[in-house]
Amino acid sequence: MSHPSSEGSPPVISLPRRADVAVVGGGVVGLCVAYEMAAHGRQVVVIDGGRIGRGSAAGNAGLITPSHLIPMAAPGVMSGVVRGMIRRTGPVTVRPSIDPSYLRWMVRFALNCTSRAAHAGAIALSTLGFLSADLAVQWIRREGIECSYQKSGLLYAYGDPAAFEAARHEADTMERYGVTIERYDAAEIREQEPALDEGVVGGFRCLDDAGLDPARFMSGIVSVLAERGVVFVPQTRLLDFRTSDGGVDRLVTARGDLAADEVVIATGAWTPGVAALLGESIPIQAGKGYSMTVAAPRQGPRNNILLGDRWVAVNPIGDLLRMSGWLELGRLDTRPSLRRLATVEANVRSRVRLDPELTVLERWAGLRPVTPDGLPVIGRSPGWRNVTYAVGHGKLGLSHGPVTGRLVAQIVCDRPTDLELDPFSPRRFR
Ligand SMILES: Cc1cc2nc3c(=O)[nH]c(=O)nc-3n(C[C@H](O)[C@H](O)[C@H](O)COP(=O)(O)OP(=O)(O)OC[C@H]3O[C@@H](n4cnc5c(N)ncnc54)[C@H](O)[C@@H]3O)c2cc1C
Repeated sequence: MSHPSSEGSPPVISLPRRADVAVVGGGVVGLCVAYEMAAHGRQVVVIDGGRIGRGSAAGNAGLITPSHLIPMAAPGVMSGVVRGMIRRTGPVTVRPSIDPSYLRWMVRFALNCTSRAAHAGAIALSTLGFLSADLAVQWIRREGIECSYQKSGLLYAYGDPAAFEAARHEADTMERYGVTIERYDAAEIREQEPALDEGVVGGFRCLDDAGLDPARFMSGIVSVLAERGVVFVPQTRLLDFRTSDGGVDRLVTARGDLAADEVVIATGAWTPGVAALLGESIPIQAGKGYSMTVAAPRQGPRNNILLGDRWVAVNPIGDLLRMSGWLELGRLDTRPSLRRLATVEANVRSRVRLDPELTVLERWAGLRPVTPDGLPVIGRSPGWRNVTYAVGHGKLGLSHGPVTGRLVAQIVCDRPTDLELDPFSPRRFR
């Protein structure tokens, strides 16, 4: 049986003196950037303060979801958050703080919860989502990456009739932006997924979505790239930049300096601290989430399921089953919380039949890098000619990693980009 943590980082090697492209952050986005940069013939060095290919994606739900096109900042989100906090069932908790950058972020988020912003965001996210899903499957097939990839759609299931009713409108919206949907009543959805219990009143399947093992997807990319000469340097934290003439010359790291022609920042939820070293402000808050991975139970689901009114995902991944959820805003630590994980499991069990005893293999936490408009930040730094940001993917870093890699490579190599980049510009926050 594969264990979620068994996918190793490459061994620690010494830091090269220079690179064509230095990628800071060896999480899913940094690796996708490295893949595309290497395909453009650039000599790439990826550094990470921790392990390569782990970051905030290794224990995530493993879903590739073009269907997630409604931005996190959308009408009704603020009231839903407050209701969940009062009932203590999630999905979101907000850390109280008077930190001005946190408060500014909150105000920006609230101002983005309008139909107009959500419509513009949905167009941008759906374009990213569909392109990226196609790229992911191309890479997996081309490189023979074994990561339990399955394009069997994502089953959204509801137990609360009012939530189901609201979700029908959400499904209509998804369809308008190009998602293919199959709708089910109570009997039909249990036929689709016999592990759902009698409390489930209906749902729908988004046929464009897929699932995979994120840790094995990332370790597959690392293996392919290592053979192509990409250098991975784990346990090497970026501490500072050395600059001249409007550009970065060198990265100062915990293990020496690295000179680079181009720098790509792919540091997820840690980006504000990294951008501040360049005197720039990229408003990202950590949205901490949790997962628990168990050995596939005898009684359990066959489908990737999102329990829409319980805000948890439950996914079979190879011979594992993963339950995940929760979003704690403003927590920049990755310690798993047993209390939160117990709520995630209870939410799953409230709708899905599972063996009474489960063999827990991993308890995990990760940080979604959340922007106040729910769109990623992909583009040239406002202030530095050879720095590019690839950050802020929120709950969609695995889903949008491949297309981000492609766009960043096009930016860095001065090629026309596949997409209009204005919605993702780092300048939009100025
Ligand atoms: C519970 C949960 C479930 C999720 N499910 C899904 C899903 O099903 N599908 C999906 O698409 N997304 C999902 N996500 C979101 C996804 O995991 C994130 O969007 C993604 O991990 C972001 O990738 P990243 O590479 O930008 O950041 P990260 O994965 O966090 O990687 C950033 C890397 O930068 C490194 N770093 C930071 N600072 C420095 C520094 N100063 N020097 C060197 N290195 C540094 C870190 O060590 C880290 O490895 C989920 C997230 C959570 C928490």
